[in-house]
Amino acid sequence: MLINAKKALKKYFGYSEFRKAQEEVIESILNKKDTVAIMPTGAGKSICYQIPALLMEGVTIVISPLISLMKDQVDSLISQGIEATYINSSLTGLEMNERLFNARLGLYKLIYVAPERLEAESFCDSLNDLNISLVAVDEAHCVSQWGHDFRTSYTKISDFIDRLHKRPIVAAFTATATEFVKKDILNLLALKNPNVFATGLNRENLRFTVIKGEYKEKFVCDYLENNKGKIGIIYTATRKEAEGLYEKLSNKGYSVGVYHAGLSDKEREKVQEDFSFDNIEIIVATNAFGMGIDKSNVRFVIHYNMPKNIEAYYQEAGRAGRDGEESECVLLFAPKDIQIQKYFIDESLLSPYRKNYEYGKLRAMVDYCYTSKCLRSYILEYFGEKNLEENCGNCSSCNDDREEKDITIEAQKIFSCVYRMRERFGANMVADVLKGSKNKRVLSLGLDKLSTHGIMNDFSKKKIVAVINKLIADDYLVTTEDKYPVVRLKPKAYSVLKGKKSVVMKVTKIKKSAKADNGLFEILKNLRKEISQREGIPPFMVFHDATLKELSKYMPINKESLLLIKGVGERKAEVYGDKFIDAINNYIKENNIEIKNKIEDLKSETKNESKKETKLKTHEITYKMYKEGKSIKEISKDRELTIITIQNHLFKCLEENMDIDVNDFIQKDYEETILNAIRKIGGSKLKPIKEVLPEEVDYMSIKSVWYKYKNSV
Ligand code: ADP
Ligand code: ZN
Repeated sequence: MLINAKKALKKYFGYSEFRKAQEEVIESILNKKDTVAIMPTGAGKSICYQIPALLMEGVTIVISPLISLMKDQVDSLISQGIEATYINSSLTGLEMNERLFNARLGLYKLIYVAPERLEAESFCDSLNDLNISLVAVDEAHCVSQWGHDFRTSYTKISDFIDRLHKRPIVAAFTATATEFVKKDILNLLALKNPNVFATGLNRENLRFTVIKGEYKEKFVCDYLENNKGKIGIIYTATRKEAEGLYEKLSNKGYSVGVYHAGLSDKEREKVQEDFSFDNIEIIVATNAFGMGIDKSNVRFVIHYNMPKNIEAYYQEAGRAGRDGEESECVLLFAPKDIQIQKYFIDESLLSPYRKNYEYGKLRAMVDYCYTSKCLRSYILEYFGEKNLEENCGNCSSCNDDREEKDITIEAQKIFSCVYRMRERFGANMVADVLKGSKNKRVLSLGLDKLSTHGIMNDFSKKKIVAVINKLIADDYLVTTEDKYPVVRLKPKAYSVLKGKKSVVMKVTKIKKSAKADNGLFEILKNLRKEISQREGIPPFMVFHDATLKELSKYMPINKESLLLIKGVGERKAEVYGDKFIDAINNYIKENNIEIKNKIEDLKSETKNESKKETKLKTHEITYKMYKEGKSIKEISKDRELTIITIQNHLFKCLEENMDIDVNDFIQKDYEETILNAIRKIGGSKLKPIKEVLPEEVDYMSIKSVWYKYKNSV
């Protein structure tokens, strides 16, 4: 059925296999069914309508909300040898007419159209002259008022389709999928018995981290220092904060730009373009930035403040790792962020009912910051996805292997100071007193007479505030929710004061990025940059990072082997092939490299590609290595994944009845003790069981014992 589709995939896009969801969606469209595809960012939605567009007669109209994105998409298609154009308000009347004229001649397979165009009757009439076989609605959630990017003109789409002489197939694509939004898409786009595909929104390659109670600016500086050369976005809540951080980072010499709604169109365009072209590595931006960003190699998205809700967070964070490579999403949380977001809702023009709805969504966002459960499952459950693994092994809750520091003494000092100040002041004043400040307010209120005045003068005030925030996040203290929040003690704090409980603080270790790339990768990257500048297209449109990685790994030295590389289609091989082959040949010569084996590797891997790309899942790769006799530690090292992740993989294999001996993982001396603890405590939660066992007993042992005896406990 999909033989031609597969041929087109290889020919134009350079990929040998569809991802599973793509196959279903494309099949549905080619079967002339209206289709809804709910797929996460980076899943490859565009190919789902681009391939049918290539295979069907006539033209496909793509409705897409952002002008800048449209141009990128069309440029990218053209670079792949596909006839496409776009029509939006950036064109003059003359240009528009010319494109419509060409369209009537059948010169395009795809025409991207801004939804606002559909409001003009004359425009719709002129589209009626075309043989439209498919209308693809991109970012279809824009039709819903419940979504986060509502656009009135999207509600005109169904009228437009009604007016066409011949009803085309309609396919809608989105990454947002709350029930409200889904219903709106089905109803408001007037789809006819559509096939609905929802692949689940999980993005395996993204690591989620929440950082609480840390000094944000320092965190960002450390992070950037340890992740040099990576491309990333830092979101702030306000323009002022964006400007401030931008200034700090550019003074430190980082390649950084700033973006917010207070800049002129021109300035914003320039920054966006510089970012696209890898001229700047880091963007500091408000949430005004992003809709127009289609950059595939964003390696991290840091939220300097908590955003307004999970939808917004997942969309913004999701701009990392569209190319499927490992990327990181970090949210820096401070209780003050809640106040900011509340303020935005308070000041908005929404109806009281709608305000409450937004408060509810904000609450869920706050809970995300405080939760100790798996962050990935939290997000996915928020979107209504059930039956997830409890533990993803790739978020800051699952991988909490940070160092613990005992801060009981500091906590006691803070609590007793709050107590002595009669729980009537905010975190800043408490910190002033602990630091021993003699500022006017402290003196006039006589707070310098307190026994706690100055007992933490060996700390900076900022550090004290950070510890207080941490204690708020961990529920020892609470701040009142009004304009001047006041810090109060919670019951947990009293146990600490009485010496019944100790307090630990996790200290974040920022991972240094491993430099796995060889020198050739850098050479090819420079070559790509040269080409991009000469042709005026962003580097990723020449080749994606993943393609450069494969090129530097397999080192193809002729066209035939070049075409085996992921992401190299016929047109690109033709246009750029020689340059890259030359560069590779030079590198091989200069370094005396034996390349025969590499090409053979590539061929055999390509043969197995269907297995590798789509069938062999990550836990199956781990299984293969386990079967080769490697230890968990070795696998973790080879795969550059954490030990916990590898353990989770193996348990997944167990659940799928693969052949694994749990005895390999049990600390034998403790088997009995563990079993007894499980019998006593019961349930499937590991934490309470771990807590009653000696410290050296690891989770893997507990889980394995549980597995071994699960039918008898
Ligand atoms: P989305 O619109 O769903 O966010 P895109 O259409 O931008 O995703 O695709 C994301 C990335 O995945 C792109 O770099 C694209 O080239 C790549 N991609 C799409 N389909 C495949 C495939 N079948 N095999 C390999 N890579 C693919
Ligand atoms: Zn997790």
